[in-house]
This record gives sequence, structure tokens and C-alpha cells, in this order.
Amino acid sequence: MIGKVALVLFGIFVSSFAYKSYENYKVYKVIPKSEVHVQILTDLQKGGNYDFWTDFLAVNNDIRILVSPDQEAEFVSYLKSFNLDAEMTIRNVQELIDAQLKPSASTKSSRLGSYSWNQYYNLAQIHSWLDELQQLYPNVVRTVVIGKSFEGRDIKGVVIDFKAGNRGERPLTGMLEGGIHAREWISPATLTWIIKEFLTSRDPDVRFMAEAFVWHIFPVINPDGYEYTFTDNRMWRKNRNPANHVSCGTNNDIGNGIDLNRNFGFLWMTIGASSNPCDNTYAGPIPSSELETQAIINYVTQLNTTTNMIYYVAFHSYSQMILVPFSHATGNQVLQADNYADMYEIAIRSADKLEAVHGTDYIVGTSAEILYAVSGSSFDWVKGVTNAPVVYLFELRDVGRYGFLLPPDQIVPNGEEIMASLVEMDINTRALGYYSYSGAGAIKSVLIVNLIALIILFFR
Ligand SMILES: [Zn+2]
Repeated sequence: MIGKVALVLFGIFVSSFAYKSYENYKVYKVIPKSEVHVQILTDLQKGGNYDFWTDFLAVNNDIRILVSPDQEAEFVSYLKSFNLDAEMTIRNVQELIDAQLKPSASTKSSRLGSYSWNQYYNLAQIHSWLDELQQLYPNVVRTVVIGKSFEGRDIKGVVIDFKAGNRGERPLTGMLEGGIHAREWISPATLTWIIKEFLTSRDPDVRFMAEAFVWHIFPVINPDGYEYTFTDNRMWRKNRNPANHVSCGTNNDIGNGIDLNRNFGFLWMTIGASSNPCDNTYAGPIPSSELETQAIINYVTQLNTTTNMIYYVAFHSYSQMILVPFSHATGNQVLQADNYADMYEIAIRSADKLEAVHGTDYIVGTSAEILYAVSGSSFDWVKGVTNAPVVYLFELRDVGRYGFLLPPDQIVPNGEEIMASLVEMDINTRALGYYSYSGAGAIKSVLIVNLIALIILFFR
């Protein structure tokens, strides 16, 4: 125990040296009113000195820009000279970072093993919790490592199967992907919540969904990037492969990574991705160049050939949207996804259920219709290359007030509303005939399985 405490203290000690301070950094909201305004902001973004939290710049879009104390006066007066209003929305970014690292005192969270949902956890804690689940639910949960990251970390997840060894050929499967963008902390937190619900919920619809499928759930697909947001730079997005580094000026570190969600080999680099390593949306030198990308591709390809994969859902933040593939498609192009109408319908109903829980408003559509056109993302690749019929990308809370720095007291309500939307997704997917399953005794099996877990917890 003393060793553990010492290790934790040592971790804090080491990281406090390297962790980039965002003291008095501010976030500004800018809404361009003309194409001229858009061009001014585009040039500013290309200059590479500002971290744009919003990737896509268009007339009337709500654009959030991170501004350092040194830049602030110049930034404001520069925009003013073009009659562009900049409204400060976050006064001190470091304050929100600090708040995010403290467990919420106000949230009542359930616990499962060593884990609760009133705080964010780092990579080692998430991985050790997944191991713990395998111990607690030996007949249901097994951990799986689908590959190594560039820096050699495990890309780890869990397979949840309540009918292990009893499924026959081509079992129904679903895959959930989180943490591909490092700074979007609510994404891994959401996936751990879903895992907990699948294992412990007594709600009949959650039980049905949990047990009809073999679930493959990966909270942190980009482990190097996620770790980096705890040790070095909270605002890091990409992986940590420096192979394509070029000089990036004052913000030189930005060149040491690839945006994994632009790296997939489906319509790669056709739109909404960058060929410049200094950009946050750098797509990599060639399609699927990255180890993390390849790990997903290999695993999903295998699921596609050996199972009946119904779902693939990727979780990001922020914007409160359910994105339907394909991300480049607008107008009639949306029909390039053959069951677009069904996916859209299912997502609309899911968004309605989501809103019913805490009043959180989500928008549904292709990325190009409601956010911005994108290519090379993982969920587009899955939809384009595999047979999985129901594929989405969730942009989780919020719409900009906290952005990537969502306070820990929102983890539980976010988890609750997302779970409700996923249950509704499953009900309507089944109603539309995408799969059939007759499983009896779902409630009984979860009671028995959790009784066993309790006994294991008690006696170790
Ligand atoms: Zn993202």
C-alpha cells in the first residue's frame, strides 16, 4: 500500500514538471459573418500559432479558439480590425483542467470494483480496471489486446459475452470505439459506463442488448495520445508518432503525431483532412499508415468475416451530435450508404430518447451536412468496407461551454443519456429486421453473474 501511495506521489511529482500550463489561456468564440471573415480565420489557423477547437470554418459557424496570454492582445485587436467580434467564453483554461482532475464531490456515482464515475481516470487505471473486470466476471469478460501503439502501449479492450461458448456460428457482435482523439476525455469515460451497464444493469432492454451480442469495447484506441494528455499536454489530439515531423514554428511539438481519425484508407485525404504534419487533422503520409489504425482494421476485418457484426459506434466530443456515415456526403450523396434512411431514422429516435433523460439536445446527420466534410475516419471506413449495417459517430457533450474540458460531474448524466440512446438504437434496429435473437432468462443471468462478482470482491 505504501508502495502504491509512493508511486502515485512520484507520478504527480514527475508530471508536474512536464505538464504544460494553460494558466490564463483563454477560449474565444468567433462567428464569421462573411467569406472574408472565414478567410481571415483560415489564414490565422494556417499560421499554426492558435489551437482551433473547431476544425471547420464556415460562415455563421460557432468557432472556438484557444489563445495564450501572450497572444491575447494581438488576437483581439487583429480580429477587431476586420470587424470580427471575439467573445471570451473560458477565462482561464488551466482552472478547468485542474477542476477536471479532481473527483466531483457532488455526484453520486455507482461503483464497480475500483472504479466510479465521478472522476476521469488515466490509461493505467483504465487498463487495470479492465483486468479487474476479467477477474470479477471470469465467465463473461475477457480482456483483449488488438495491437501496440507507436510507443509500445497496449491497445486494450474487453469482450463481453454472457453466452460464451454457447453462441453457434457467426454470433451477433457490436464494437464500440473510444479515445481515438486524446483530449476528448468524456469518450473513454462513456465507454467504461457502457461496460458497467452491460455487466450490472437490471433494465430489461439493457439486459437484452448486453446479452444478445458479443460486445467488443475499446475505451482508449489511442493510448499514447491519451497518456500524453495526462503527462504533458492536456490539449493533445493526435497519436504520438514523430516520423513525419517538420518544423512547426513556436508550437513545434504539434508535428509529432497523426490524426488517427483521418488516417483510415477509405476515401483517404479526399476532403476535410490535412497533408501538413503541423495540423491537428494531419492524415498521415499514406492511408492506414499508423499502428493504431492497422490494429482496428485487422480486428474489425476479422469480426466482419467470422461474426454477424451489427453495430460499430465511435465516441468523440464535443458538439452533441449523432453522425451518420458517410462524412463527405451531402444532398443525394448520402444515399451512397445503402441503408442511410434506416440509419437516419434509428438515430433520430435515439436522439429523442437521449433528450428525454436530461434534456440534452443532439443533432443527427452526416458530418458534411451538420458539422463539416471529413474523410479517412474509422466509422466511415467500417461502413464503407464491412457489412456492419448500423454505424455511427457520437459527438458527446457539450456544445462549447467547457468543450474538451467537461467537468467530472457531467460523466454520470452523460452516461445515462447515452445508454438510453443506445438502448433505443437497439430496439429500432431489431424492429427494422436487422437481426433476430431469442434469449430467455436475461434478468436471472445478470443476478447470478453479479452475485458471483460480489462474492469474488468480498473474498479477495
Ligand atoms: Zn474527436
